[in-house]
Amino acid sequence: MTKTVIQINTGAVNVFLIRGDGGAILVDAGNPGQADHILAQLAEHTSTSLSAGGVAPHDLRLILITHGHVDHFGSAAELRERTGAPVAIHALDADAVRQGIHQPDSLNPTHWLVGVVMRIPGVGGPTRAPACEPDIAFENEFRLDDYGVAGRVLLTPGHTPGSVSVLLDSGEALVGDLVMGRLMGLLPKPGPPIVAWDLERNRESVRRLAALAPRIIYVGHGGPFENLSDLPG
Ligand SMILES: [Zn+2]
Ligand SMILES: [Zn+2]
Repeated sequence: MTKTVIQINTGAVNVFLIRGDGGAILVDAGNPGQADHILAQLAEHTSTSLSAGGVAPHDLRLILITHGHVDHFGSAAELRERTGAPVAIHALDADAVRQGIHQPDSLNPTHWLVGVVMRIPGVGGPTRAPACEPDIAFENEFRLDDYGVAGRVLLTPGHTPGSVSVLLDSGEALVGDLVMGRLMGLLPKPGPPIVAWDLERNRESVRRLAALAPRIIYVGHGGPFENLSDLPG
């Protein structure tokens, strides 16, 4: 059986390929300048056709951005250019993608140590990306069947105002930075995001997701996680 969710490690952040019966979706787009790496990884999962488990660039039906942070949408414009797939993001985070900057007011450290580390020059990663006018700026939850994937997009705000997650009918959740591997993914346990717009809203979103009982959670930094009892919130 072919795997539905393929985790692509781009160094600082994971992006994901979801292979559905009728098409494929890329979840997040990495830092700026990573399109070559991501497309090469997609090509590793390319064979003659989707039904044979492969994904050609033109099989991509959607590039879904989980939230407006540069490390998650940095290569979105180039990936759209090279695959033809539209870029979608929640309307509340869309301006960040349009301007190629981090979503404002969403980099508040959730732990004092993060605040200290973030003052070290260069630690935070790129802060600018090529501007990208989203093709789709959605406000409500929606199903992904039109893009060939059996699953839905959930609103899970907190890390940023417009943070979203994907829950597949087969039980996999892809949650962006709603949950992070502790120490930016260095520890194999799930923790809260190290920065957030509203940590209490994030906790509410984690509880909502947990209530939907996903069987595995893929995250932007570290993971994946299967033991939901470890979830923060
Ligand atoms: Zn983030
Ligand atoms: Zn991130």
